[in-house]
Amino acid sequence: MAEADSPLLNAASRVGPIVAGVRGATIADRLASACAAIDGRLVFTTSLGIEDQLITHHIFTSKLPIEVVTLDTGRLFGATYRLWQETEERYTRRIRAYYPDAEAVTAMVGEWGVNGFYYAREARQDCCGVRKVEPLGRALAGAAGWVTGLRADQSGQRSAVPLAEWDAQRGLVKVAPLFDYTRDAVAAECERLGVPVNELHARGFPSIGCEPCTRALKPGEPERAGRWWWESDDTRECGLHLTADGKLVRAKATA
Ligand code: SF4
Repeated sequence: MAEADSPLLNAASRVGPIVAGVRGATIADRLASACAAIDGRLVFTTSLGIEDQLITHHIFTSKLPIEVVTLDTGRLFGATYRLWQETEERYTRRIRAYYPDAEAVTAMVGEWGVNGFYYAREARQDCCGVRKVEPLGRALAGAAGWVTGLRADQSGQRSAVPLAEWDAQRGLVKVAPLFDYTRDAVAAECERLGVPVNELHARGFPSIGCEPCTRALKPGEPERAGRWWWESDDTRECGLHLTADGKLVRAKATA
């Protein structure tokens, strides 16, 4: 197929001006510009981590037309469910939950065991696929934009996260309003604004996911070392942020 006939390239060139329209120095400005530039449904997927809580704060307090959703894997920490409730009460808004397909969970646990992810990478990927990736697909179905809490300095896989980019795999514009924030800057903003955060952050958990796959950090360890710590670094992502050919996120900065 000639390049000019490629649906993927045509789509990417069409969305160039939209991607460029996502801009701003502040989180609120970036989110508002995304709402203005992207025509269609915008979805923010929150894990209720500290970055996501800061974004949730701005979406809810600015009353932006962005759906706030979370993927309840069924294996989250009790502290995360408490924070979920606290956040809904604080902002008097509901965070919509997407759940894994019950039959798929039954089949996956039947094959690998309830904690099979500790014993085989394939089991871990299968569990993340059933509990996270498939529900994410449903959450983003029909969306034109996807807001995430990714920061460029979180790990080697995320080192070139831009403010906005065309996600060819999902056919939408992906927006990361905290792409240039440090962990300390996010924490300072949450403190300043009184944003509720997970109690586990103060107990050595900078990155919080499912309870069996997240541990506290030892002194000097990088931020995401506590996630799937029994695997090597280049395979450790959950599969939510992949390129069209299944590679981990390594996009060029556009802002
Ligand atoms: S993080 Fe662990 S428990 Fe959660 S979906 Fe992935 S493998 Fe399963």
